[in-house]
Amino acid sequence: MIRRKSIEQTLLLGGLFCLAVVVGMMIYSSKISKELEKQLMQSLKDVGDQNEMTLESELENKFSLIEGVAEWLGKLETIKPSQVGDLLGEFRNIYEFNDMGVIFLDGIAYTTEGEKLNLSKQDAFKEGIQGKRHISGRIKKIFGEEDVNMYTVPIIGATDQKIKGIVFATYDITQFRTLLEITSFEGNGYSYIMKRDGEVVVDTEKAKIYGSENVFDAMTENGENNEEAIAKMKKDVSEGKSGYIRYNYEEQKYLYYVPSKTVDWYLLTIVPSRVLKERVTPIVWKTNVICVSTILIALAGSAGFILTNKRQNKEVFELAYIDPITGGNNYAKFSKVAQELLEEKKKNLALVSLDLDKFKLINELFGFEKGNELIKKMWDVIKKELRSGEVSGHSVADQFLMLLSYENQDELERRIQRIQKKIENLSVDKYMKETNPSLGLYLIPKGNNVASLDNMYNYAGMARRVVKGRKDEHYAIYNEEIRDKMLENKMLEDRFFYGIEHREFQPWYQPKYDIDGKTLIGAEALVRWIKEDGEMILPGKFIPLFEQNGLITPLDDLIFEMVCKQQKEWLDEGISIVPVSVNISRAHLFQGTFLQQYGKTLSEVGISSEYIQLEVTESAAKENKEIFPLIQELKNNGHKILLDDFGTGYSSLMSLEEIKFDTLKLDKSFVDAIGSERGEKLIVYTIQLAKSLGMEITAEGVETEEQYQFLKENECSNIQGYYFAKPMPAKEFEKLLREQMKKEGQ
Ligand code: C2E
Ligand code: CA
Ligand code: CA
Repeated sequence: MIRRKSIEQTLLLGGLFCLAVVVGMMIYSSKISKELEKQLMQSLKDVGDQNEMTLESELENKFSLIEGVAEWLGKLETIKPSQVGDLLGEFRNIYEFNDMGVIFLDGIAYTTEGEKLNLSKQDAFKEGIQGKRHISGRIKKIFGEEDVNMYTVPIIGATDQKIKGIVFATYDITQFRTLLEITSFEGNGYSYIMKRDGEVVVDTEKAKIYGSENVFDAMTENGENNEEAIAKMKKDVSEGKSGYIRYNYEEQKYLYYVPSKTVDWYLLTIVPSRVLKERVTPIVWKTNVICVSTILIALAGSAGFILTNKRQNKEVFELAYIDPITGGNNYAKFSKVAQELLEEKKKNLALVSLDLDKFKLINELFGFEKGNELIKKMWDVIKKELRSGEVSGHSVADQFLMLLSYENQDELERRIQRIQKKIENLSVDKYMKETNPSLGLYLIPKGNNVASLDNMYNYAGMARRVVKGRKDEHYAIYNEEIRDKMLENKMLEDRFFYGIEHREFQPWYQPKYDIDGKTLIGAEALVRWIKEDGEMILPGKFIPLFEQNGLITPLDDLIFEMVCKQQKEWLDEGISIVPVSVNISRAHLFQGTFLQQYGKTLSEVGISSEYIQLEVTESAAKENKEIFPLIQELKNNGHKILLDDFGTGYSSLMSLEEIKFDTLKLDKSFVDAIGSERGEKLIVYTIQLAKSLGMEITAEGVETEEQYQFLKENECSNIQGYYFAKPMPAKEFEKLLREQMKKEGQ
């Protein structure tokens, strides 16, 4: 009897216990789902906000181009319809607008192509005459089929401040499309832009499934049970707020919407909720396994039960903080731990923000899988570098965050350099053997953490952007100077158009000599920015900036054109000229229209391509197989192509195998190594290699007699460097050309 009772009791207790465990596990599962959903929303917001910032800077760039033009027109006394082509044709070509022109105060627009049309009913016109700039939704190109956006900026008279008309320019909509092809959520996320009333302005490949031109209509017509979600979104949008909804269209999706700060547009970022399910399922599965095993253990009456259970539960909960790509900490986990460490105030800490320079390109060229693989490798490197009391995590795309501790700043910087090098050496593919990470630091000396974590992210991010895309420096520590540098960059950007208009940019010429040291065989054109007050800004200050913001394209075009014209002028004066090499920036090479543009300039100026050589850098040459045919075409057109800065990268020989350059330019750092045994061996070998591949070799940055003699003995082809001549204005270079003619008795 007693025995039976005790069995019953045990069974009852056991049953109750199992029930409790099951209920407990269910609560856990739902907690995890919620935690993951929260996280997914956070990343959706991060991606959305990041896209919005990209959009903003794209719009600002475009508007600032057009504002530059409007300001210039504002200074003219009058503008007649018949002058539009002459005034703006050049701008249209350089900036690659589709259409461009002026809308006069009667609403009649004249394009650079001499066409005339009535735009008086358009919003652009109505806003323009009130002095406001405007951007249209998706419209058809004025004369053609392509979808474009029209940007309009009023022309304000410089003297009377009255509105004289409106400049308009249209841009191909596909430019935004590329911008919006985001790479998050394992390639499942996408974005598009709509107007407040829901009209689609820009869609992406993935978003194109909507047949309708209006987002709200599409959601109502094609999805079920979306009424509530649509109503919430419409309300938020009408009040200019950002927010989330969950809606159905073929499947359930999450949508984050955020208004643009510049124009009356909304940016939508979407991710299917299946992404969430894919993340939750393995965790729930694991929960179930643990549940069953826990019951078994409980039934066995194991004493270790409570302990094991506790540990495993903890593990399950921790999964909510795991990043799906790296398997390590995600952003939520990083923030949580970082906050705790900051509150401890025990050590000096540094918040580090890290990302790669061209991650988007890696995804585009090699695919998401390779991109994710790279992110995983980056994480492995970062994880290994951590000490106790430190934390790191993967935020979005290729961005990582670290909170490091340090004793003194030197030691910290050495660590940062080590991490940078290790990540730089991660290879993606045989065509991309090195990646370029940029790091930004925000220092938090012990007991001095006054800023909020959010602000710290911003400061570290700002510091990172200072070095982004630079080859010479890879990390920066946030300080007042960085803020000043940002201001200075802004100033350079703002002055750019003024500079172009007032001919402040000019090519200087640095002579190249035959190895005999006597015969002038060519020159390199190097841009100089000489402001009206006489101050000269060297390219090192603005080229990297302009490479980042795209202004390099019009600048390179200008220098190319000026060199062509100068060569032609000398020819016409009967001077026997030498080939001049012009630098082409990487960013430029990727632009589709560049070939035709250069061809057109050559034929308009009337100079033969043999007098204009082109310098491209090594990284440009190997970054992208796609430019090889382009280079081949330039060669077919008669240009000699010089491989610039040879020796500054790692897999230099790769590019030589892939494409036949005419000349290899040995970088100054090589030449500086003359005097060291290893350096000299390397040079001798490189010269032989170049020659065996049928290339000439020009040594750059030759400064001393010793360097010159060494290069001569080892049969380098040509010399460029201060030892012979520094870069000089055209007038001075002309003297050298004339002297050479005299010597040759011409
Ligand atoms: P780069 O193409 O490697 O040009 C050679 C640089 O080395 C020039 O600097 C030149 O003045 C300098 N240099 C030449 N010989 C010596 C020497 O013996 N000693 C020393 N210390 N320096 C020497 P610069 O003119 O300041 O130009 C810097 C960089 O800016 C160029 O490097 C090039 O990458 C870029 N750049 C210049 N003009 C243009 C341009 O029109 N377009 C583009 N995209 N980039 C340009
Ligand atoms: Ca060069
Ligand atoms: Ca160079």
